[in-house]
Amino acid sequence: MPPKLTSRIQRINGVRLAGQPSTWDIQIEYPTDSGTITSVTPHEDEGTHITESPLALPALTHPHIHLDKAFIHSTPEYAQFLPSTGTFQEALSSTTKAKQQFNHADLIKRGEWLLAESLASGVTAMRTFVEVDHTVQHICLKAAAELKEKWKQACEIQIVCFAQDPIFSTEHGDQNMRLVSEALDKYPQIEVLGTTPYVETSIDAAKANIDWAIDRALALDKHLDFHLDYNLDTTKEPLVWHVLHTLKQRGWTTGLTTKRVMLGHCTRLTLLSENEWIRIARDIHENDLPVSFVGLPTSDIYMASSAGVNGSETALQSRPRGTLQILEMIRKYGLDAVIAVNNVGNSFTPWGAPDPLALACLGVGVYQAGSQDDAELLFDSLENLPKLGIRPGDTVILIVVHVVPKVVGRQILLNNHETILS
Ligand SMILES: [Zn+2]
Repeated sequence: MPPKLTSRIQRINGVRLAGQPSTWDIQIEYPTDSGTITSVTPHEDEGTHITESPLALPALTHPHIHLDKAFIHSTPEYAQFLPSTGTFQEALSSTTKAKQQFNHADLIKRGEWLLAESLASGVTAMRTFVEVDHTVQHICLKAAAELKEKWKQACEIQIVCFAQDPIFSTEHGDQNMRLVSEALDKYPQIEVLGTTPYVETSIDAAKANIDWAIDRALALDKHLDFHLDYNLDTTKEPLVWHVLHTLKQRGWTTGLTTKRVMLGHCTRLTLLSENEWIRIARDIHENDLPVSFVGLPTSDIYMASSAGVNGSETALQSRPRGTLQILEMIRKYGLDAVIAVNNVGNSFTPWGAPDPLALACLGVGVYQAGSQDDAELLFDSLENLPKLGIRPGDTVILIVVHVVPKVVGRQILLNNHETILS
């Protein structure tokens, strides 16, 4: 259920703001049902010994999260689908089997767990992937559309109609594509088309998947979001080149449309040379291609080892991991790049929580990013993402921290400035 809110907050004292050494008092008034911050003044009791204080931050966004297959591992009905080997192939096949048991009530229940946990973490907008294929047909989409409406006061939900399965190969390809096409016609709530070229059984089918998705998204004026190049195998052709080539060929530029193309995972690109990265950046900048990248480190460091996604044998003591170096892509190549949670509680990512700040903390280690500038860039890559076509609104999150930084609780001030405790 959407959150039940406590009484209105009139004033918050001793608040820390990002980048400010002192503390502040925030006054909130209610000229209408929606509260407005009317003043932020220096905290009057600077001399008192404060052991913990709230930190006020803008609300957070999930730029990439899977609504329909969240928390499969937390549900007794799916106990037989817990990982036994932990491989990517096992995750694909066991999740496909679990999907055969999906039903409306179950999708709503697990979806609301994800929404509630996300909101309690300070997330008020999300781009969420909802699968459409011969196994689930449109039931995930129907549940997502219902949740989008039910939770609209608390969280903006942008729905991706997502082909996790092949649409140009295997015995179900034709049926999968027909179901995706029908969904795009039937559900005006869909703002984004998403596909997974790497699950196709040949490179030609993967390229056909990319061409078809670009043409459909362009014709329907939707954003496009690919799960792409999810491997660490130098013998595999990186499909990013085909995506960039096709976008140029079709004229999908920032001048033509405000709709954008997101490339997710892309672990294969961590094996590219400096010159190849320069070429990617030049292709995007010189041709005004509205391309963004999303790194999914929680999933990538679990799955994108050469023994994981590739399924090949690797010595136990040598399991290199790969995830997009998001901060370097922003700083060095001027690319538009963010980080996101991806999966929660399923075989693709059986660890981690839907908490973007925890993800940013992981980023400190993964990107070797310990400076103040790094922290600010990591935080920037989590909040307000207008380029995705979603924004968290005028919402503030309060995080209660000890002087020795340790989160002890959070309060979310929604647009009407009432609170939720976590
Ligand atoms: Zn994903």
